[in-house]
Amino acid sequence: MNRSESLFEQAQKTIPGGVNSPVRAFKGVGGTPVFIDHADGAYLYDVDGKRYIDYVGSWGPMILGHNHPEIRAAVLAAVEKGLSYGAPTASEVEMAELVCEILPSVDQIRMVNSGTEATMSALRLARGFTQRDKFIKFEGCYHGHADCLLVKAGSGMLTFGEPTSPGVPADFAKHTLTADYNKLDSVKALFEANPDDIAAVILEPVAGNMNCIPPVPGFLEGLRALCDQYGALLIIDEVMTGFRVALDCAHGHYGVKPDLVCLGKVIGGGMPVGAFGGRADVMAHLAPNGPVYQAGTLSGNPVAMAAGKAQLKLLQRPGLHDELAAKTETLIKGFKAAADKHGVPMAINYVGGMFGFFFTDEAEVTTFEQVSKCNMDHFKAFFHGMLDEGVNLAPSAFEAGFLSMAHSDEDIAATIDAADRVLAKIAAA
Ligand code: PMP
Repeated sequence: MNRSESLFEQAQKTIPGGVNSPVRAFKGVGGTPVFIDHADGAYLYDVDGKRYIDYVGSWGPMILGHNHPEIRAAVLAAVEKGLSYGAPTASEVEMAELVCEILPSVDQIRMVNSGTEATMSALRLARGFTQRDKFIKFEGCYHGHADCLLVKAGSGMLTFGEPTSPGVPADFAKHTLTADYNKLDSVKALFEANPDDIAAVILEPVAGNMNCIPPVPGFLEGLRALCDQYGALLIIDEVMTGFRVALDCAHGHYGVKPDLVCLGKVIGGGMPVGAFGGRADVMAHLAPNGPVYQAGTLSGNPVAMAAGKAQLKLLQRPGLHDELAAKTETLIKGFKAAADKHGVPMAINYVGGMFGFFFTDEAEVTTFEQVSKCNMDHFKAFFHGMLDEGVNLAPSAFEAGFLSMAHSDEDIAATIDAADRVLAKIAAA
């Protein structure tokens, strides 16, 4: 038994399922999760001393690679001054100014501690502002685990929400309407059926929780137009995509203006941070100025702000996002070429520093339905084959992959070589 295996056994005695967030448990792929000892640049090192080229990047925030020296230095300097005050700081003002300067869609911003808090609070604000209860989300989009957002889409459009998880009363989920991602007609139908009741549409501008599905042309623009027509707010959840797809986030990249934006892990540079912001007239409804309540003891935490600011400043270097996108393209096209060479059917998607690969005969994957029909056996074999080769991919076929600026050409070439070997075995099996 190696150290990861014995730690996992030990962990299960005191931590439910042995993990503090379910996808880490390898349920989707089988086997024992790898316990990490430390990380640096493009690499993770496990407790048994094995090195992995990492394409999870703490599920998104490590755009500059792990343990970046400038971010680490900023954190250590902040730590010297105390860990938390529960009082206003200059640091959080600077952070707010930085985000507002980078994102023209954000007039004001409120810091929270996770993506879950960001989306939950943005939705409450949208409901309070519009004085409407219902909202629309998309099947396959994840926005954290607030009750009303944990809703499975059932068989698609026009279905009222059914809670995905026991513990969410049906009454809490009944105002959640679900539509089909990339299918504008499904959203239109919901608006037509509920013309005066929909507070908001919330979505991932590139869906990263059903593998990686970019919006089809016209989808985001169509949502903007429908929201305007029916007086609903457009909430763009950039927890995963923010500052990764482009400096001005995915909504900037696609040229669509949200009313509210949710941000998360990226703006914490690895510390627990989230935020939501947007139109000044909407944000004016938030406590203490307005009636919509929202709060947080550790919100705007000075250590987290130091990490986030350091990362955001570094991300402003001109050309950085083009370089990140080029690395991503090389990697994912390398996967595809290897799959083609060995006759393993594969489709790919990529945008900015995000990528997805699908074991499917379909030439293009644009919907949740297509993702859910992909070959899971091939995914599992590929995941474990790559892990053995020292490449860490997300342990689920429903997660996007992430590149960082720390991935060198050699790292990417080595990853493609590993993919070539693993796909050869899959083809031969
Ligand atoms: N929104 C999106 C788009 C996410 O991907 C996630 C988590 N991956 C969340 C919200 C929730 O963020 P957190 O896990 O920080 O609560």
